[in-house]
Amino acid sequence: MKIPIAKTNLNDFEKNSVLEPLNNGWLVQGKKVKEFEDMWCNFTNAKYSIAVTSCTTALHLSLAALGFGPEDEAIVPAFTWISTANVIEHLGGRVIFADIDLSTFNINLKSVESLVTKNTKAILPVHLFGLSANMKEVNRFAKENNLWIIEDAACGFGTTYDGQHVGTFGNSGCFSFHPRKAITTGEGGMITTNDENLALKLRCLRDHGASISDLQRHHGPKPFLLADHPEAGYNQRMTDIQAALGAAQMIRAKEIVEERQDIAKNYDSCFKDLSWLRIPFSNQLYKHSYQSYPCLFEPEKVEEAIKEKNLNLLSEIRNSRNSWMEELQNCGISTRPATHAVHQLSYYRNKYNLKPEQFIRSFAASECSISLPLFHGMTENEQDYVIKTVLSRNK
Ligand SMILES: *Cc1c(COP(=O)(O)O)cnc(C)c1O
Repeated sequence: MKIPIAKTNLNDFEKNSVLEPLNNGWLVQGKKVKEFEDMWCNFTNAKYSIAVTSCTTALHLSLAALGFGPEDEAIVPAFTWISTANVIEHLGGRVIFADIDLSTFNINLKSVESLVTKNTKAILPVHLFGLSANMKEVNRFAKENNLWIIEDAACGFGTTYDGQHVGTFGNSGCFSFHPRKAITTGEGGMITTNDENLALKLRCLRDHGASISDLQRHHGPKPFLLADHPEAGYNQRMTDIQAALGAAQMIRAKEIVEERQDIAKNYDSCFKDLSWLRIPFSNQLYKHSYQSYPCLFEPEKVEEAIKEKNLNLLSEIRNSRNSWMEELQNCGISTRPATHAVHQLSYYRNKYNLKPEQFIRSFAASECSISLPLFHGMTENEQDYVIKTVLSRNK
């Protein structure tokens, strides 16, 4: 049996949905994009949704719209996808890395309390793998330090904190529709906000800085009117082909999230007593939506290594994780380290002169985590095979 780490599962209705814009000829930021945005508002309870080309451009556009610029600083967890940090660099800013909690893989604010300066303008909490960051703490921290909150909710489709959908706590929330995420448009992203002025600014910036959209002009009475461009904007418009695919999946949004949660629950019940594998954190307050299923390998040894700042021990644990990943690969089961420690990728390591132990939990998470296959559409047979193989690990 061959089991991928993730897999796109589109039904015929969803696949055929892309034909509608192709047949009617409106291909970019038209009716389908509007429909997808409206469905997204309904699902997340955000007041405004703005479709863009990726989560990375969503993060970039949010910072730009808020006025983040050269010399400004923003706080980002060191354990995340690299683009959460990159967008700060793109705008000429400086990244302040925070460490994470190993139990949740999410930002630990205590690690940055002393690092805030007068130039610190924003915090980008990440709801990593579908688990919300501690938004009560993030809100408090942002208020105390007068920071904008831009939520990296790339993996946050269906993720709630205290019953509220992520992406609706901060100034804006940014989602991804890359094929590794729970719903996909190939490439694509969405920004949510409850701030009307910010929504207007985001719409303007995504469309070359135009004051009104093509769709508005198309329906307007004065054919001689060209839009004014009050901003030097960007082109981050979503196509209607992508939006049609997204909107079609939104019809079964709830079902997709629940299916992923059921698969995770099944893993949880089989693995919860393993001392050498820590299952993902989740409870009523923090409802996980399982963009992936990230586990910590040999958690007790990892905690010991962190306490002693023992990098050799971390390497030993990583080596035995790697052998296990190879064993699984030989059985046809794909796994991955959950994600990378951004402070150890050469751009950031070199620019900011960072050592692994400066954000040791992020480093440990990248060295000692393992994500197991999880995707909606995964069959019972497939999951049973993964479970059986994990439980029979040769130690
Ligand atoms: C996937 C991901 C991104 C990037 O999303 P794109 O749509 O590919 O730009 C950013 N942050 C996190 C946490 C992600 O998982």
